Amino acid sequence: MHNHSTRSDGLLSPTQLIELAARTGVDAIALTDHDTTEGLEEAGRAAAHLGVTLVPGVEISVSWGATTLHVVGLQVDPSAAQLAEGLRSIRDGRLERAARIAEGFAKVGIESTLEGALACAENKEMVSRTHFARHLVERGAVKDTQAAFDKYLAKGKPAYVAHRWAGLEEALRWIRASGGVAVLAHPGRYELKPAFRDEMLADFKRFGGEAIEVVTGSHRPEQYAMWQRVAEEHGFLASRGADYHGPGESPCEPGRLPALNASLTPVWSKWAH
Ligand code: AMP
Ligand code: MN
Ligand code: MN
Ligand code: MN
Repeated sequence: MHNHSTRSDGLLSPTQLIELAARTGVDAIALTDHDTTEGLEEAGRAAAHLGVTLVPGVEISVSWGATTLHVVGLQVDPSAAQLAEGLRSIRDGRLERAARIAEGFAKVGIESTLEGALACAENKEMVSRTHFARHLVERGAVKDTQAAFDKYLAKGKPAYVAHRWAGLEEALRWIRASGGVAVLAHPGRYELKPAFRDEMLADFKRFGGEAIEVVTGSHRPEQYAMWQRVAEEHGFLASRGADYHGPGESPCEPGRLPALNASLTPVWSKWAH
């Protein structure tokens, strides 16, 4: 229930992603590109052709105070005006942000990264830190994309740029107005102190959030139990998703993660019977 394509920072086209799902026996797959639904039409055609069920989705970048959160919308209608306009408004800031990221690299002596990152991005308006990381690998500045984040792109590092994304309440409104279900992506990645974590979960719920990711390629396996407990205690549905970005970059292919514990109610129980 969480995968990327070349319409954002994935390495496979929407068609290739669906082909991978079909080849590996995945019966239902969500395409959840960052801040865009542009790949859903192509993915839908491939899915119909190959007999795979596509769950149309999106992963929205959100600013909650100074913290960036990711909220996945599942079963969204990409033609819904509020969602389409909202996503456009957050995409609009990306190019300018990328220029500032490149300035951060220049300050530590790594020049001309904007051109390099853009060359790595098929969808230029969705240029992201991932594309900078890939460019750095290409030019031999780091050994892999993880090292690019650890050394330069993660919060607090020289090429990190604070950015204002969508508000949490507004992102959830867009998802819900388009008929979708809001899922908090990889909650274990935000490194919030317990009090802030509880406040964030309360806000998420208050604004209409219904599910959290428990089993995800963006959690370490030892984190699954904790987020399972959080889902149970806070009454959230649970989701499972590879957060797949492509071969060689994501350890886990779609459909390969462990199943959700039977005590959880999967988010797809809302639509799959
Ligand atoms: P952006 O939306 O431009 O901030 O890029 C965010 C993307 O960068 C995420 O969706 C991940 O694909 C990737 N990413 C973020 N943090 C890391 C990290 N620490 N290691 C590897 N990839 C990361
Ligand atoms: Mn990503
Ligand atoms: Mn994410
Ligand atoms: Mn993701």
